[in-house]
Amino acid sequence: MNAPISTAGYVVEPLPVPSLPVKGSEKLFPIHRIYCVGRNYAEHAIEMGHDPSKEPPFFFQKNPDNVVTDGKFPYPSMTSDVHFEIEMVVALAKGGVDIPVESALDHVFGYGVGLDMTRRDLQGEAKKLGRPWEVGKAFEASAPCTALVPASEIGHPAAGGVSLKVNGTLRQEGDLNQMIWKVPEMISYLSKLFTLQPGDIIMSGTPAGVGAVVKGDVLEGLVEGVGAIEVRVV
Ligand code: MN
Repeated sequence: MNAPISTAGYVVEPLPVPSLPVKGSEKLFPIHRIYCVGRNYAEHAIEMGHDPSKEPPFFFQKNPDNVVTDGKFPYPSMTSDVHFEIEMVVALAKGGVDIPVESALDHVFGYGVGLDMTRRDLQGEAKKLGRPWEVGKAFEASAPCTALVPASEIGHPAAGGVSLKVNGTLRQEGDLNQMIWKVPEMISYLSKLFTLQPGDIIMSGTPAGVGAVVKGDVLEGLVEGVGAIEVRVV
């Protein structure tokens, strides 16, 4: 979803502000940046060929306008191996630097459910060649998301099932309590590297079971206590 922006004073027309709907509100959540946590569930780190006891999670980014909320994922160009990754989305209402772990949750507006869609073949090539991941991670429509649910309604989920079905078959299953970096830790860590801002969202990592999609697939993701997402690959 996109909120309109004033065109006055710009030499080219500015694009709309990427945004997410908010459950129970007419107002939108404006997206500033998208931070993604890599290998935040041990079983997923292992399935990707890494040892989570030796390599802690890390961050990469997607582009704010990679978010889609219309339930459609257009199969992207230049790939033949696009993977699903079901993730809880954390949306920040307050920014800051050097945010202590103890008060990090005070910065959270709410939560949603998202898919970190990945051109795994291009990501794999980038890893092998020591190149950046954007081509694998930060492409058009690579971040299907649900509306956000305010923390004032659901609290701060730290446990609960995270699962994904493809065409009705369970493919990914984990629990928020299996995250290596918990939500307060990821906010605190990020705030040491970057100036966090209201409107930043964090995709918190995916449990094991990632796999490829083809056109026509229906992805049904669930984060217990947060919500459900349904996306069709078109
Ligand atoms: Mn991911």
